[in-house]
Amino acid sequence: MIHTVKRDKLFFAFDPHLEPALRVSQGQEVLLETHDCFEGQLQSEADLVESLDWDHVNPATGPVYIEGVKAGDVLRVKLLEVSVADHAVMVTVPGEGVLGGMIRDMETAILGFDSGNVVFKEKVRIPVKPMIGVIGVAPAEGRIPNGVPGTHGGNMDCTLIGEGTSVFFTAGVDGALFGCGDMHSVMGDGEVVVCGAEAAGTVRMKAETVPMPGLPTPFLETKDLVATVFSAPTTDEAATEATLRMARFLTDIAGMPLNDAGMLMSLVGHLKFCQVVDPRKTVRFEFPKWVLGKYDYQLPR
Ligand code: CA
Ligand code: ZN
Repeated sequence: MIHTVKRDKLFFAFDPHLEPALRVSQGQEVLLETHDCFEGQLQSEADLVESLDWDHVNPATGPVYIEGVKAGDVLRVKLLEVSVADHAVMVTVPGEGVLGGMIRDMETAILGFDSGNVVFKEKVRIPVKPMIGVIGVAPAEGRIPNGVPGTHGGNMDCTLIGEGTSVFFTAGVDGALFGCGDMHSVMGDGEVVVCGAEAAGTVRMKAETVPMPGLPTPFLETKDLVATVFSAPTTDEAATEATLRMARFLTDIAGMPLNDAGMLMSLVGHLKFCQVVDPRKTVRFEFPKWVLGKYDYQLPR
């Protein structure tokens, strides 16, 4: 039987003192229903960002307490199925995003759906590729608003975080207190105008600890690659640390000699922006799994 957390079980900051919305054992499947990043406040093109209640932005559904997880454990969250509602919303906001200094007009655009495509202004059809913007676990201490990404996860807005991906976190507290929200029907790397195709959705997932002590988290595994993710006040800092973290994974965990790791990171690794518009910028370093196989390393199944 699958446990469901409805989208009225929301929180707005990752916090060790949150009351769990659900307790499940490791490996048990959970269905989370998520709101869009505006908690559904923008329903038509007449609803502008200026009317928003900012206390209801970036909600995450949860948190889910995972039994048997201890603070410090590495937790793998497998995203088994990620789907989005059949419409999405985007906004422009003067002063926000990379174009903030150029944009004069506040606008809300409602994007429809048609046979697997997001339809932009009846002109441009873009294949739906759902991803999760806000996903994480409670930090060991402090309260981190959902809009802010960090080592606990949060608003990473990484286009790799979708169906089939595993996201690894280090539990800050017992039970981890996992939650997610802020789905996008589609988004480009960078999220430059300040949003993707913001949509409500559902996530079917399961979580369990894995024996990977010292894994630099957040860490991602897709069908073909692994990635380190890091968020910092500037893209320069985030890029450097995401790169160093991949080198540490390849040497300390996958067992590669440092110079091999460095040369291969330069040959087949890819440094990419996740988002450059949140309070901290997020960068990832991608490395192909088939190369890990050449060094006889396999991630836990
Ligand atoms: Ca976001
Ligand atoms: Zn979003």
